[in-house]
Amino acid sequence: MKKKWWILIILVLVLAITALVTSSLIKNRENKEYEDKVNYTINKYKAFINNEISNDSDAITGYFNKIITEKAKQEEINENKIVLDINNIDNTLNTIEEEIEKYDIKYLEEITNYDLDEAITNDVDKDTVLNIYQNDELIQNISEEEKKRSDYLKHLEEIKNTSKYLKDNSKYYEVKNNTIACKNKEIYNALEDLLKEYNWDYTLNLEIAKKEIPILCYHGVLDNPWGAATLFVKVEEFDKQMKYLNDNGYTPIFVSEIEDAGLYEKPIIITFDDGYSDVYNYAYPILQKYNFKSTFFVVSGFIGGDVYINQDMLKEMSNSGLIEIGSHTASHPKLNTLDKKGIEYEFKNSKEVLESIIKKDITTIAYPSGLYNQDVLDMAQKYYDYGVSTDWGKENSININKYSLKRLYVYREYDLEQFKYLL
Ligand SMILES: [Zn+2]
Repeated sequence: MKKKWWILIILVLVLAITALVTSSLIKNRENKEYEDKVNYTINKYKAFINNEISNDSDAITGYFNKIITEKAKQEEINENKIVLDINNIDNTLNTIEEEIEKYDIKYLEEITNYDLDEAITNDVDKDTVLNIYQNDELIQNISEEEKKRSDYLKHLEEIKNTSKYLKDNSKYYEVKNNTIACKNKEIYNALEDLLKEYNWDYTLNLEIAKKEIPILCYHGVLDNPWGAATLFVKVEEFDKQMKYLNDNGYTPIFVSEIEDAGLYEKPIIITFDDGYSDVYNYAYPILQKYNFKSTFFVVSGFIGGDVYINQDMLKEMSNSGLIEIGSHTASHPKLNTLDKKGIEYEFKNSKEVLESIIKKDITTIAYPSGLYNQDVLDMAQKYYDYGVSTDWGKENSININKYSLKRLYVYREYDLEQFKYLL
C-alpha cells in the first residue's frame, strides 16, 4: 500500500515538473517571437529614420517607404522656386502645371489612416508600430505639413491665374528691355500691381495707348432724302469719305472694341443710328468694298417698317462680321423724359428682340437724339457694356467715357475737306 502511494506522488511531481518546464519553454518561445517582431519592426524603423528606401516587399516597408518619399516632397516645397517670367509665360505655365501635378495629392491623410492599418500585419508588432507612428515628426505635425502644402498649391494657382491673364492679354503689351509698353489702361493698371507684387524691374509706359478715337455718327446714306435732309449723306460722298479713311490708314473698329483702340495706329468708329434700309442698300456695299467695320444702332420696334431695315437685312449684315448691331431702344423715345421703369423697358425689350433675331449678344446702345440723364446711365450699365451719346468730341483711349461716348455728326452738307477737319 505504502509503496504505491509513493509512486503516485512521484508521478504527480514528474507531471507537474514537466508541465512547468513545458509552459516555461512555450513562454520563452512566445517571448522570443515577440522580441523578434519588435526587433524586426525597429530595424525597419531605423532604416526609415535614416531615409533609407528599402527593397523589401512587406507591408510595413511599403508604408515607411511611402512616408520617406512624401517627406522628401514636403521638404522640397519652396515658394520661391516658381518665378513668373513675363518674357516666357508658356514656360512658367508649364512649370506650374508640373508642380501642381506633383503636389496635388492628399497623401498625408491617406498615410495616417488607411496605409497604417494595412501595414500592421502579423510580421510586425502593432504596439511598436503605433508608438513609432505617434511619435513620428511628420505625423505629429501633420496639420502643419498639410497647411504648408495647401498654401503652396494656392500660391501656384495664383501665379497660374496671373500668367494666364498675361497670356490672354499679350496683345495689349510689349516688353522691350526694361520697358513694358501698354496698349490700354486696364493692362497698365494690372501690370502696375504686378510690378509691385513680383518686384519686377520694369518701367511701364502708356504713351503708345494714347489715341484719339473719332466716332462718326451717320443716320442715312441716300441721294434723295425723304426726311431731314441734313441727316442723309449722299452715296458718292459717303464713298469718298470711306476711301479717304482707307487711303489714310484708319482702322474702323466696333463700338464694343473701343478698349482695343490702342492696338491701332489710327482707330476710328463708324456708327449709324435709327436702322434705315438705305444703310443696307447703299452704305453696306461700300463698307464691304473697304472691308470696314461699323456699328448699326437699330430701333427694335421699327424693324420691317417703311423706310427701315427688315429682319433678313439685319441678319445678313450681322452675319457678315462687318456690322455690329446695337440697340437704339425699342421705340425711340426721349429717354430723359421717362421714369426708371420706362427706361428699363426700352433697354431690356430692344435688347431681347434684337438678340432673338441675330442670335448674338447686344452689348451697345445709342441714346435717341443723344439724350440721357443719371437714370439712363445707370440703366445702361445694367444692360449694356457701352452707351453712345451725341456729346460732341472724340474719345481718348486711356480715358473712355464708357456710357456717354462722344461722337462727331457727319452732315450731308460736308465736303471732303470738312470731313477731314472732323477727324
Ligand atoms: Zn435716332
